[in-house]
Amino acid sequence: MMIKAEYIWLDGQKLTAQARSKTKILHHAVRSLYEIPEWGFDGSSTMQAEGHASDCQLKPVFFTGDPIRGEEHILVLCEVLQADGQIHSSNTRARLRTVAEKYASLESWFGIEQEYTLFRGDRPFGFPEVVFPGPQGPYYCGVGAENIYGRELVEEHLEACLRAGLVISGINAEVMPGQWEFQVGPLGPLGAADQMWIARWLLRRLGEKYGITVSFGPKPVTGDWNGAGAHTNFSTRRMRDTGGIEEVRAACEKLKLKHNEHIAVYGAGNELRLTGKHETARIDEFRYGVSDRGASIRIPMVTANNHAGYLEDRRPAANMDPYQVCARIIETVAS
Ligand code: ADP
Ligand code: MN
Ligand code: MN
Ligand code: MN
Repeated sequence: MMIKAEYIWLDGQKLTAQARSKTKILHHAVRSLYEIPEWGFDGSSTMQAEGHASDCQLKPVFFTGDPIRGEEHILVLCEVLQADGQIHSSNTRARLRTVAEKYASLESWFGIEQEYTLFRGDRPFGFPEVVFPGPQGPYYCGVGAENIYGRELVEEHLEACLRAGLVISGINAEVMPGQWEFQVGPLGPLGAADQMWIARWLLRRLGEKYGITVSFGPKPVTGDWNGAGAHTNFSTRRMRDTGGIEEVRAACEKLKLKHNEHIAVYGAGNELRLTGKHETARIDEFRYGVSDRGASIRIPMVTANNHAGYLEDRRPAANMDPYQVCARIIETVAS
């Protein structure tokens, strides 16, 4: 028996970590995490170690069936440890693990909307070679070959995520041509962040087949074109319970006090996106409001109507690290 196990981990790129992966052949079926061996890699090639002491460890923490190679094969998400077994400085998951455990009684849920932009070569997929496409308007949730670029890849990605057992709540075409979104959750903090990293990996991996690259850049095209965010929807047990709207408002007041600490971990280059235009609030302002897509935090209409539910933090950029964002939100709301 040969099982192909694709080990996936986050590299050490300073501004925006990316998933890396490599394959290990296992000679036994895998039914639980504990049957997956630890492994290692060359950290000097991923900005995680120096050449003279290059080994880093891969510790499996979550796995799914592999929708690309077939479900008997697996995708294995890993935490990175130093050679001596200590948590590596790039391992942001370890911190979320600690925070999630400490505040487990909040029963936090996250639903993350991942926007992204497909590229072919140096321009967004669907952008003509010399001129710009027609102005924004018809593309969001659009249909028809005049509006939509890359649906084949997007559909294949959705199918792959579902086959891998990821909790995807939906997909949609976005405001700029070639721009799309999928949503992960609602799930607990580690589940949401782990699944987001697997879903991102699957998207980039499937793009290889089409010669399409995926940009998580917050502002892929300057000018009158929407940026790409990762709206992070959040609730605690008390927010979801009857009358939870008061908890939602209290959380918004706490988030206001920690605005800068949040922006610091909400993604590199986010200042190019959070301009106060294109459905964003300025990066140096904090505002929340019901149904307000120009606010930092939007209280969704359903939450206002039900007097309970969740809030939407609209600030995180598409390239944010969900481990850091979820940890920051929990810590602020628990404070
Ligand atoms: P938008 O109107 O902002 O585009 P979406 O439908 O794209 O909204 O995304 C809404 C997200 O909110 C989904 O990821 C969903 O899983 C998440 N969500 C729904 N209910 C909750 C909740 N109680 N707590 C946290 N997230 C939630
Ligand atoms: Mn959305
Ligand atoms: Mn969106
Ligand atoms: Mn949203």
